Order: sequence, then structure tokens, then C-alpha cells
Amino acid sequence: MTQQRGKDPWRGRPLWAEIDLDAIAHNVRELKKHAGARTALLAVVKANAYGHGAAMVARTAAEAGAQYLGVACADEGVQLRLAGVNLPILVMGYVAPWEAEKIVTHGLAATLNTRQLALAVAGLAVQQGLTVPVHIKVDTGMNRFGLSPREVAPFAEFVRTLPGLKVEGIYTHFAVADEADKTFTRHQFQKFLGVADSLPWISIRHVANSATILDMPEMCLEMVRPGISLYGVYPSGQVNRSIQLKPALSLRSRVARLHDLAAGESVSYGRTWVADKPSRVALVPCGYADGIHRCLSNKGVVLIHGQRAPVRGRICMDQFVVDVSHIPGVRANDEVVLIGRQHGGEITAEEVAELAGTISYEIFCGIPPRVPRVYTKDGYVLAVETLVEKIDYSTAT
Ligand SMILES: *Cc1c(COP(=O)(O)O)cnc(C)c1O
Repeated sequence: MTQQRGKDPWRGRPLWAEIDLDAIAHNVRELKKHAGARTALLAVVKANAYGHGAAMVARTAAEAGAQYLGVACADEGVQLRLAGVNLPILVMGYVAPWEAEKIVTHGLAATLNTRQLALAVAGLAVQQGLTVPVHIKVDTGMNRFGLSPREVAPFAEFVRTLPGLKVEGIYTHFAVADEADKTFTRHQFQKFLGVADSLPWISIRHVANSATILDMPEMCLEMVRPGISLYGVYPSGQVNRSIQLKPALSLRSRVARLHDLAAGESVSYGRTWVADKPSRVALVPCGYADGIHRCLSNKGVVLIHGQRAPVRGRICMDQFVVDVSHIPGVRANDEVVLIGRQHGGEITAEEVAELAGTISYEIFCGIPPRVPRVYTKDGYVLAVETLVEKIDYSTAT
């Protein structure tokens, strides 16, 4: 066992993602309040809950009032069931017809997009004496997944006739809800309502991602589907910060080696950085295989003693180097913050994303299983998950 429950510092791999479950619970409650009492909340936990750990986030969100979970593929739903999660789970992405069995056996709700899939799920449901809830997605302008508006009513009426299925929901997804100009989003919403109004027997209509909940609460309908906001991050710089979100994830490491360079010495592959004066550098034992984007070479920044230390040279697969010449008293094993706060300093996921030329979503999803997850609640470590062990102190004796 690498860690005792409590407030002791993490003694596993000196690179870890700390997930503040209280922040996630806070975000769920705030989003629910904002969406209104009549609106259910589907917590989007696809991609391992945006890297935050699907099962722990799902449990936390459920305790804070989430009524539904959303995943991208059937396997993610199965993974949650195997972890003992009981909430309804909607698979929001494409399910191949040969995956119907996973849907039925594990009690998932599927988004149906073909008659073939509908028949496959219905057949198995009847065999097993079950009724499987299904949703229909209307493509109102993403031109990605879903059915065209004119295909929806005939398809829904067809599915309605199949025993073993219950059309529970109808939904769409917005292309530019996180931009200041809401014209296209309103257009998509009207298109959606045009279809949904013709199918009043479908009880749950849902269209709102995080940006829509924050900026257009009038579109919350019967259910909302927040993702990024659950994790305490605003979907873009253009949305209203109408509710106070708390970032849940911080990414931390420790100084592995300190050494001094003479002017003219270079760092890392390609010798892309050369010291122009005597410099003190610190090795950080993580790299692009841990989700530290290689494009942050000579660009990224970390916190040590609350101060910013710039990346020097190329980021390697498993390690990189930062300049600490200006930070007095740095020692081996001092904490390094890649995302999060330290002694009054802060590096946000948005800042890292901006530097890497991407969005916070991709930064989070890029944190692989090699990075230990340390889950905290009330300031205590509640559970840890590493490549080699999984300990839940809330159930362990
Ligand atoms: C990912 C996803 C969401 C969540 O979007 P955020 O911008 O993270 O809130 C909602 N709905 C669908 C269909 C999605 O795929």
C-alpha cells in the first residue's frame, strides 16, 4: 500500500492528479440550482470523466443530485456498471449493431440511429424480458451524429412499435453554444423544438451542454448534459461566469534532480535551449506520455514554491526540465504544480490549453492511466488509483 488514508503527502509515483470530489459535488449542486428544480441533470462522464476518473466522479455526482450519466461508447457504460454504478447511463455516441448485447445486458440506454440497431436491441430485450430505454438524437446543424430532422418522426414512430424498447428521450447538440453570438444556437434550438413538438409522447427533451446551461438557461428543458463545468472549468472565455465553479483537478509532481549549468550548455533532445548565463535547472519526472503536451517545449510553465518556472528544452516522453534560477532554496522532492494552485500561484487548465494551442478538454482527456489519481474529500484522501493498485478507503477496513 503506497498511501495511508489521511492528510499525509502522497507517497506514490511523484506525479499525480489530485481530484477534489467536494469541488465536483459543489459544481453539480450549483449547475442543478441554475438549471432549475424541474430539470434533471445528466453528468457527462465520458473519457474517464474528462480524465477525472469515471467511477469516482459518477458516485460523487449521484450523491450531489445527478440523476443520469452520459458516456460516449458502450464500453464506458459497461465499465461504470462493473464498478457498481447503478444510475441510468445514456450512451450518447455511435453504437455498432453488434454491440447491442452490451446495452441490454448492462442496462444501458442507447442512442438509436439505425433500424438495424433498434431491431438488435429490441430482439435481445424481448429475449431477456426487459424494456430498454432509448433516446433519439436530432442533427440540427453539427452534421455529425444523429438523424436529420425529417427522418426523426418516422424513425421514432417505428421504434415506438417495437416491443422491448421505450423511447424515453430526444436530444440535440449545439455547435457554437460557447461563443458570444447565439444566433446559430437559437436556430438549432428552434429546429429541435420543431421536431420534438411533433413527438409529445417522448418525455425527456435535452439539449444543454455546459455553455448552454450557463448562458441560455431557458433551454434547460427536462434534462441538461454538463461536462466540462462539472469539473469546474468554463467551456470557453466567451461564456458567462454566471455561477461560481470550482476546478476539481490539479496535476502535481516533484523535483527529481537539481543541477547547475554553465552558459553555453544545452538541455534535452535537439539542444533547442542553450543557457545564455549560468542557470539552475530542475528535472520534472513526467513527459508527453503523461499528458504533458510536447508542444509545450520551451513554452510551458510550472509552479515551484508558488513561483513560475519556465520549461527549458524539449519535453521528452517521461521527463522535462524547468529553470529555477530565480527561485531561491529549491530542493529535491519539492512539489511541482503543472495544473492547480500553490502558495498563492495558479496555473489553470485553460492557461495550459492556450499555450498548447488546444482546449482544456483535451488537456484533461490526455492524462493517461499512468498518472495516479488521488481522490480527496473533506481534505482527506478517500481513494487512490494507480497503474498497479486501486484502494478505496471509504470501504476498506
Ligand atoms: C461531451 C458532450 C456534452 C458535454 O459538453 P460540455 O461542453 O463538456 O458541457 C454534452 N452532450 C453531448 C452529446 C456530448 O457529447
